[in-house]
Amino acid sequence: MIVVCGGGGFIGGHLVKTLIQQGHPHVRAVDIKPLDEWYQVSQDAENLVLDLQEKDHCERALYGASTVYNLAADMGGMGFIENNKALCMLSVLINTHLLMAARKYGIDRFFFASSACVYPDYRQTTPHVIPLKESDAYPAMPEDGYGWEKLFSERMCRHFNEDFGLTTRVARYHNVYGPFGTYDGGREKAPAAVCRKVIQAKLSGVHEIEIWGDGNQTRSFMYIDDCIQGTLDIMASDITQPINLGSSQLVTINQLVDIVEKIAKVKLKRTYNLSAPKGVNGRNSDNTMIQALLGWEPSIRLEDGMERTYRWIYDQMTKSRVLVGTGV
Ligand code: NAD
Repeated sequence: MIVVCGGGGFIGGHLVKTLIQQGHPHVRAVDIKPLDEWYQVSQDAENLVLDLQEKDHCERALYGASTVYNLAADMGGMGFIENNKALCMLSVLINTHLLMAARKYGIDRFFFASSACVYPDYRQTTPHVIPLKESDAYPAMPEDGYGWEKLFSERMCRHFNEDFGLTTRVARYHNVYGPFGTYDGGREKAPAAVCRKVIQAKLSGVHEIEIWGDGNQTRSFMYIDDCIQGTLDIMASDITQPINLGSSQLVTINQLVDIVEKIAKVKLKRTYNLSAPKGVNGRNSDNTMIQALLGWEPSIRLEDGMERTYRWIYDQMTKSRVLVGTGV
C-alpha cells in the first residue's frame, strides 16, 4: 500500500494519478479537505479525509502501508506564508505524527516534501543569484515560519533514519506549477497568479496588471511532470540527504509576465506594488547533485509548462463565468 498524504492537494493529486497510471494496485490518498474540494480524485485510489496533525489520524492513514509520501502541509505562495507563520509551523505536527506512525508500523520508505525556503535569506539578497546548493542550507536562517518548519522536519527525518532505521527521503522542491493547483484565494503562487491576472485583464478588457515587487526578482519554476518524475526517482534512490528538485531556468517575474502575455496574445500596462509580499530577491536551484546522483534534472521549458497551465486556468475561469452568468 502506497499512501500519499496531501493527496487532495496540487502535487499530491498528480502523484496519486501517476501511481495509479503506473499500475500500483493499492494507493491511498489522504487529505483534510472534504473530497469535493480535492483538485483531483482518483476513483481507483482509497480516498480518506483525515486531519494529519492528529496522531491517531496519522495511524489510521498509515495502517497497512509500506510506502509513504508526505506532501501534506498548510501552505501557499508568499502572500500566505509571510502572513501565516504560526499556521505554517503547525505543519510540524503532520510530519512528526506521520514519522511516529511510520516507525510504529515498520514502514519501508518515507518521503518528505521540503522546500527551497529552507535556504538562508543571506544567500538570496540580489536578483543576480548564485544557484543554491544543498550545503548552503547551513548556517541556518531559513524563511521565517514555513522554512524553519521544513528545515526542522528534514532533520527529524534524518534522525528517525539514524536512530530508528526508518528509510527516509527528502526533496527540496523549488516553485512547482501546473494544472490542477491553486490559482486564486490567496494561497496561489506566482505562475498561477500571473496567469489569472492576465486572463482577468483579457476577459474584462482592462489591459492592466499589478505585479508584486519591482518585477526584477528572479526565480526558477518547475513544471509538475518534472516534479512527479523527480519525486518518484528520489524515493526509489539511495540518496539519504536532502536534495534539490527544481528547474535551473532562471527568469525575472517580468519575464514570466512576458511569457504569459505571449501565450494570451495581449500586452498589458504594468504597475508595481512595492509593499506586497515578494519573498527573497533571487533564487535558483543548483542541480549538480541531482545530475551526479540521478543523471537527470527537470527540463520542461517554462514556455511549454506555462502554456498548459494557462489553458487549464483559462478553462476554470471561463467555466465559472458561465455559471455566474446563467445564475446557476
Ligand atoms: P497544496 O496546498 O496544494 O497541498 C497540500 C495539501 O495538504 C492540501 O490539499 C491540504 O488540504 C493538505 N493538508 C493541510 N493540512 C493537512 C492536515 N492537517 N491533514 C491532512 N491534509 C492536510 O500544496 P502543494 O503545492 O501540493 O505542496 C505539496 C507539498 O510540497 C507541501 O509540503 C509543500 O510545502 C511542498 N512544496 C510545494 C512547493 C510548490 O511550489 N508547490 C514548493 C516547495 C515545497
